[in-house]
Amino acid sequence: MAAREERRSFWTWGYLSDEPTEAQRKQAAGQASVRLGREVRVPPVPRIEDIALPPGRIAIPSRLSGFVRADKTERLTHTYGGHSTELLAALRGVFRNPPDAVAHPRTDGELESALEWCDANHYAVVPYGGGTSVVWGVSVPETVNGAVTIDLDNLNAVLEVDEISRAGKFQAGILGPDLESALRPRGLTLRHFPQSFPWSTVGGWVATRSGGHYATNHTHIDDFVESTRMLTPAGWMETRRLPGSGAGPSPDRMVIGSEGALGIISECWLRLQKRPRYRANAGVLFGDWHAGCEAVRAIAQAKLWPANLRILDPAEAGSKAGLDGTSALLIIGFESADIPQGENIRSAVAMARDHGGLVDDGDLVIDDGEGEIERRGGAVGAWRQAFIGVNAGATNGLGLLSDTFETAITWDRWPEFDATVRARMQRVLDGVLGDGAFLSCRFTHVYPDGPAPYYTFNGAARVGAENEQWQTIKDEALAAVVDAGGTVTHHHAVGRMHRPAWDRQRPELFGEALAAVKRRLDPNGILNPGVLLDPG
Ligand SMILES: Cc1cc2nc3c(=O)[nH]c(=O)nc-3n(C[C@H](O)[C@H](O)[C@H](O)COP(=O)(O)OP(=O)(O)OC[C@H]3O[C@@H](n4cnc5c(N)ncnc54)[C@H](O)[C@@H]3O)c2cc1C
Repeated sequence: MAAREERRSFWTWGYLSDEPTEAQRKQAAGQASVRLGREVRVPPVPRIEDIALPPGRIAIPSRLSGFVRADKTERLTHTYGGHSTELLAALRGVFRNPPDAVAHPRTDGELESALEWCDANHYAVVPYGGGTSVVWGVSVPETVNGAVTIDLDNLNAVLEVDEISRAGKFQAGILGPDLESALRPRGLTLRHFPQSFPWSTVGGWVATRSGGHYATNHTHIDDFVESTRMLTPAGWMETRRLPGSGAGPSPDRMVIGSEGALGIISECWLRLQKRPRYRANAGVLFGDWHAGCEAVRAIAQAKLWPANLRILDPAEAGSKAGLDGTSALLIIGFESADIPQGENIRSAVAMARDHGGLVDDGDLVIDDGEGEIERRGGAVGAWRQAFIGVNAGATNGLGLLSDTFETAITWDRWPEFDATVRARMQRVLDGVLGDGAFLSCRFTHVYPDGPAPYYTFNGAARVGAENEQWQTIKDEALAAVVDAGGTVTHHHAVGRMHRPAWDRQRPELFGEALAAVKRRLDPNGILNPGVLLDPG
């Protein structure tokens, strides 16, 4: 596949064409002025030529100069991932720690040469897919004396499609839309759609154990990985393609979620599916949040496997789906390539009604497979538009602090977990952001044994202190979640951001075993230092 032509934006998600227009930024500033009760001006976007970078510390050997670059734009556009703290620093022109060089290998041979060069010189290596990490996974650690980002953008081909077994072999740097475009003519799909789908890659998904937007059954990319091929400083590791295997610990399981700390994933075989043809969906209102959650539990445990089973609490249904803030909204959706979904949606809606849910029969949308329907109006349609059209650019730098944290917990602990997290978060939000700061929640994924709640917080920041304020709130969020028995992340990965809290969550002996694996694969500790494990 041709290399990506458009440059990534350095201050918002996506590419230059994803950047908000001046008019959109002004409109967002107007809304922020109303919300904050003071005039909010649109901050200027710095020009690349005006941004100061620390001088590069490494010289590129001439044999690598065909695919390793150290110009300012390359270094600058690979300094940060997609977290709001990073986008804000970038908008303010703060680039203290860029990589010294960026490699764009075009072949396995060039990938090997780049890694050998870094290993021989003890340069830190940051594997880079789409750069959408929201956990500081692609930032360069401050403690190293030289760092090279290895961007997989040129390794982006569909290598093989096995239509009999329904699986495809993809190079790691392929972006979501390119992968789906290649599969569409064959009537196939990976059907893995993280919200960052347009800008993220197969390698990034596998390295971070990404979660797609389907709520049940196949949630994480893990479920689709049939085999992996990964380059480490100690050599190549390629696993056997198998539909399943009980042969000891799974080598793929070591690669999945390795976050660039154990090797560079170059290819994966992923399981594919037929494109869905039949669809059905409904939006159900609940006056009581926990009654709605109980409905979700009933549907999940009935194993109907809806594609969507997302409940938004009243605050979130108000801010994201245009409701009045008094009702929770449960969005139920089914899809299938082979089987009409009318019966499933009616069963799920009946369960929701048993728990007090309100929905008119006329509001059930059932697509009998005659053609793609887009009759998703009302609150469900509004929520979907907000989800797909997500972008951080327009509000970046306007003095509003907003972020999310996502976790998972078993149903038996859920109500108490939610109450504890909300109480602790409201205290810290009131203390740090003052009046008007609020927390909302939705479920992104649901399992028969528990939900994956996704909390969002919002409030007015002190301009210039946003990132310090964010850190105080984030520390409390992580402590609240871990203390109450949840996980530091359900699908956003560990990165450098969640590392300290993850250390509290995982068994100590597991941490030591992982460090031993890293020493074997990466004896000089060059791979993404500080992600998953202590550097060095
Ligand atoms: C707007 C937005 C929405 C998001 N929505 C979701 C969502 O719905 N679900 C979800 O799971 N995540 C989501 N994320 C987080 C992020 O998109 C995922 O973590 C994604 O999997 C990262 O893919 P990437 O290609 O951008 O990887 P990058 O950001 O480039 O890298 C992520 C990590 O993986 C490592 N890595 C990347 N490629 C390789 C490779 N080939 N070999 C080894 N290591 C590698 C990097 O070193 C880094 O540690 C979202 C992020 C944004 C900005």
